[in-house]
Amino acid sequence: MIDYLIVGQGIAGSFLAWNLVQQNKTVMVMDYQHDQSSSMISAGIINPITGKRFALTPEFDKFYDYARQTYKELEAVFGDQFFEEKPILRCFKTQDEKDHWQRKEDEGFVDPYYQEVYPPNKFENEMDDALGSVLLTRSGFCHSQKLLISFRNFLSEKNRLRNERVSYDNFEITEAGVKYQGETYGDVIFCEGYQAQFNPFFDWLPFNSVKGEIMRLEMDGYLNSHILNKGKWAVPLGNNQWAAGSTYIWDHLDCQSTEQGKKEILDGLKFIRTEKKVLNHQAAVRPVMQDQRPVLGRHPKLSRIHIFNGLGSKGFLMAPYYARRMEKFLVEGVPIEDDVNIDRFNGI
Ligand SMILES: Cc1cc2nc3c(=O)[nH]c(=O)nc-3n(C[C@H](O)[C@H](O)[C@H](O)COP(=O)(O)OP(=O)(O)OC[C@H]3O[C@@H](n4cnc5c(N)ncnc54)[C@H](O)[C@@H]3O)c2cc1C
Repeated sequence: MIDYLIVGQGIAGSFLAWNLVQQNKTVMVMDYQHDQSSSMISAGIINPITGKRFALTPEFDKFYDYARQTYKELEAVFGDQFFEEKPILRCFKTQDEKDHWQRKEDEGFVDPYYQEVYPPNKFENEMDDALGSVLLTRSGFCHSQKLLISFRNFLSEKNRLRNERVSYDNFEITEAGVKYQGETYGDVIFCEGYQAQFNPFFDWLPFNSVKGEIMRLEMDGYLNSHILNKGKWAVPLGNNQWAAGSTYIWDHLDCQSTEQGKKEILDGLKFIRTEKKVLNHQAAVRPVMQDQRPVLGRHPKLSRIHIFNGLGSKGFLMAPYYARRMEKFLVEGVPIEDDVNIDRFNGI
């Protein structure tokens, strides 16, 4: 018997598999369409303060410290760099936005997360910062593809990864475990990203997933020690290449990039005063729950069926921490916190 079947090798499934293997558990991961997953195309940005109103992510330090430590450990194991700490240079887009920032600054909660507020036109040769800007810290980005491919190679070398679509009809749930295609697994954990909304075990959960588009651009020598943001963002990947995004579309949940998405991103990046050459353009769907919290835990009626999902726009910040929580729940029975526990949806 194999201890765990994990369905999906995005960051949720990858981190969970990694943690379970560290606990000497046997796993099998099954995944298909991996190259189009949200995790593979993601910019992997970690940003303490987001949105027009500069909202500080609740418990940010807990997630950030854990994620940074985990990425460091993985870098040592795999011999590659995954996480780059980089400040975010955020230009104020409107006076209203700037006023919001001023209020946040006065309240004092954002003190640990910014280094400096710059006057208007400080970077005017490089960008339109006519209302000024703020340099956010405790931020950076994860090289998502490199990380996912390292996990994939690790699992493949151990014969712990199969490239196939799991079909829900073929599960046989018994007292002894879950049978799937002639193999018995102790437990199954679905880490399917937005496709969980088509999974009959979990299609009753209140998903509110959102499609996003992203591009890879070539831009010459631009403040490449910073992530740049003025509504749309650009992340310096090295060699004059940048990841740039993004869009939010709640209908048409597919992975097709569109001309409209491309235009929206390029228009939004006009604040950066340089030529931009589009190298590629992709789309995927962020898995989001209506209350915007992750969802972890056991199916209310089927004790061997589980879910780890709902990482939303903060997957690269939260996946390391919650994968560990999920592993401790599965292996040691440590209860999952109420705010992310699937039990909060019981009775729906
Ligand atoms: C354009 C864009 C930009 C983003 N930028 C950021 C960012 O800057 N920072 C950040 O933190 N987050 C960002 N995100 C969000 C982030 O990508 C997600 O939070 C995260 O990737 C979700 O990971 P996941 O493993 O839950 O799902 P996914 O990455 O979607 O992985 C699920 C996997 O399960 C597989 N699967 C599904 N069903 C089955 C089945 N039946 N059988 C086999 N396999 C199956 C899929 O093929 C897929 O590979 C972005 C997302 C998008 C779309």
